[in-house]
Amino acid sequence: MEGNTIDRDVFVRIQTDLLVVGDSIMTDRHHASNGNYEDDDPQNQIGGIIPAFSLSGWLRHGMEKVVQERDGTACHPGEANANFRKDGVYNRDLDAGYHEKGACLDDDDDSGCVILDLVGGFGNRPGKVMRRPIKFSPVRSSVDYTRGQAEGHYRRLNRNVVSRNEDDNREPLRNAELDAVGNLDGCWHLSFRETKPEFVALLAEAIDFLNEHQTDFMHQLGGARNFGGGIVDCELVNPLYEEHELRRVFDRSKGNTNKMEEKDDRWENECLPEFQTALTERVEDV
Ligand SMILES: [Zn+2]
Repeated sequence: MEGNTIDRDVFVRIQTDLLVVGDSIMTDRHHASNGNYEDDDPQNQIGGIIPAFSLSGWLRHGMEKVVQERDGTACHPGEANANFRKDGVYNRDLDAGYHEKGACLDDDDDSGCVILDLVGGFGNRPGKVMRRPIKFSPVRSSVDYTRGQAEGHYRRLNRNVVSRNEDDNREPLRNAELDAVGNLDGCWHLSFRETKPEFVALLAEAIDFLNEHQTDFMHQLGGARNFGGGIVDCELVNPLYEEHELRRVFDRSKGNTNKMEEKDDRWENECLPEFQTALTERVEDV
């Protein structure tokens, strides 16, 4: 048997009620507002971009767990020679399922462990997967899921910290504004520069892990976790699907076709197990 292969483009479905990505959501309100933008006007039709940095860190953390569950160690995301303010914490990480970033590289085989090989980052080494930003829009009909877009509603949230002293009548002490996206549902587009079976298995298992641990503080996405932000339902869209099938996943009026069900079957019972075997071998190999 030749083995199964998949395309270089894969999509992760991401659904969350509330996502707060620090102050780094980029909006297109400057076009939308025509100079009259009001933060709190529910009529505003603002789209924007969720940068990939937080998504990437969230995914990587899931991938580290997948490697550790196979009794492997994961590349630490921090440079070993960095001047960590908390050396003790870094060393404790190394005892808890991590190796020093890049320690997995040796002369015979310079691809390193599966995480370093996939995400890159040591000595300007490019990763083998490109994580794209997610473009979101409140107008469902203009969302192109096959281009890694999502339906999502931008809101500027205000948090007030008020005085606790009764005489002050809750006078605000501090006001913080927060960029948030509500009711996000769409696709995160990942492109493999090089597709290896173990990469696909690592991605599939990491997404599964993150979905199962979506309410764990450690595995929520972005900020505002104490307030329920970043609880993400996620699912790897069957990589065997073609574009029209991917679109159908997001069409509430249509169910799966027979052909999609056949592909689900093939993915579950044939492709994924084969890729998982490759991942297990790769993790044991280090
Ligand atoms: Zn490594």
